[in-house]
Amino acid sequence: MPKILNELPTHLIPVEALQTFIAAIFAKAGCEPGEAGQIAHHLLGANLTGHDSHGVIRTPRYVQWLTEGKVVAGQTLTIVTESATHAVVDGNYGFGQTIGPLAVDLGIAKARAAGMSIIALRHSGHIGRIGDWAERAAAQGLVSIHFVNVSQGELVAPYGGVDRRFSTNPMCVGVPASADEPMLLLDFATSLVAEGKVLVASNGGKVLPDGALIRPDGSHSSDPETLYGPLTTNGPRDPANGDGALRAFGDHKGSGIAFMCEILAGVLTGGETSGPIPGGKRGRITNGMFSIYLDPTHFGATDFAAKAADYARYVKASRPAEPGVEVLVPGEKEARTRAHRLAHGVPLQLDTWGALVATAQALGVPSP
Ligand code: NAD
Repeated sequence: MPKILNELPTHLIPVEALQTFIAAIFAKAGCEPGEAGQIAHHLLGANLTGHDSHGVIRTPRYVQWLTEGKVVAGQTLTIVTESATHAVVDGNYGFGQTIGPLAVDLGIAKARAAGMSIIALRHSGHIGRIGDWAERAAAQGLVSIHFVNVSQGELVAPYGGVDRRFSTNPMCVGVPASADEPMLLLDFATSLVAEGKVLVASNGGKVLPDGALIRPDGSHSSDPETLYGPLTTNGPRDPANGDGALRAFGDHKGSGIAFMCEILAGVLTGGETSGPIPGGKRGRITNGMFSIYLDPTHFGATDFAAKAADYARYVKASRPAEPGVEVLVPGEKEARTRAHRLAHGVPLQLDTWGALVATAQALGVPSP
């Protein structure tokens, strides 16, 4: 059983104050103000959509990586090879929040000109919430599909196995919306839960679902110690200390998608899989992202966004399995959470807030 079961109390932080605070931390840590603001903006975007595991909670770890030279400020893309419809690009270990927009904008520009494009990105710093990138393409009227892996982020056992072989490998599909309609956005990790959710559970937050983890003897577990080893009250949570693994969602199907994320984002990009890298810089977590951009008009799809929205309404009209519990379509939950948090602020667990304040203090940044 997990050791601590109660949901922790939270601070509610106004969005603008949080943006300013996080940007100030990155500026003091060594980023130019523009880059610092952009990192803060994208981290906050994950919080706004309810994906706190990929939000400002990452700040202390990012600052540590910057200090250790595992992520590098002020980087840009290097184009390795390209044609009218594709490019292989290297992120040079720059911040994912800097490299991500450059890669996506290249894909958008090529798809607008040629109707479709593929961008194979390697060696990007942690690129955060993938839905962010699909939203950027959808805002320009493009459908986009993303397969992502995490080099040196091995945490997930393949279906039928107990040893870690995949990272939490997210995949994402984004579809542009008509005005006033929420964007259709599927965006999830291929592990049964994201690692951030194990972290939250280990700190007394929401309990993990049964079978989220697997022990070396093949038995299923929901105990964060399976991933982190024995928990101490305030000790760091390091997956290197645990001997178990996360499980892929959906048995052989989810495990198969995770596998293909490694092949597309880790191998086809010319980057690395999540497996061991001979001579690789230990602990240098990077994302590979294989992205496909499609202009609906190129396919002769007239009124594409409106027809997609019609279909979404039809799906939502399904009678609920549980009376009173609404059928949602992909992206709907995030759109609602964003509207609510923009209005009311971002809830942060006290330990998350404490870690941000400690990072700020170490850099001499005042806390709001
Ligand atoms: P999740 O399990 O919350 O699933 C989110 C998806 O499911 C969304 O598309 C959402 O709209 C949809 N959804 C949620 N509830 C629904 C419902 N009731 N009905 C219909 N659809 C519903 O997401 P996750 O697996 O915890 O992933 C969280 C985030 O972590 C994602 O944004 C992902 O991109 C990110 N991530 C990033 C990395 C990285 O290396 N950069 C790695 C793993 C995950």
